[in-house]
Amino acid sequence: MFGSRNARERSVTCIACGDSVARADAREYDKHGDRWDRRDKEFEHLCKPCFADLCRQPREGLETTLDAAGAGETDRETFLRRYRELSEGDSSAE
Ligand SMILES: [Zn+2]
Repeated sequence: MFGSRNARERSVTCIACGDSVARADAREYDKHGDRWDRRDKEFEHLCKPCFADLCRQPREGLETTLDAAGAGETDRETFLRRYRELSEGDSSAE
């Protein structure tokens, strides 16, 4: 669907920054909060820097932000734009 199937099978896209990272270096993020049921699921992935960043936020806030941004429900461009807007809104409070 996206690009060539055999070329980058081992790399995934970080949902936060959009970078391509090796799957082995990525952190799985399941927005459904249920890692054990893997059937018909596409896991979201985060690169290490973003994962570390997100983990400084309360988990609840992360869920809310990802959900509000439309993780898994909208195209990547829209998601990333919303995600950045929401994240920036958060950090401006500091
Ligand atoms: Zn990232």
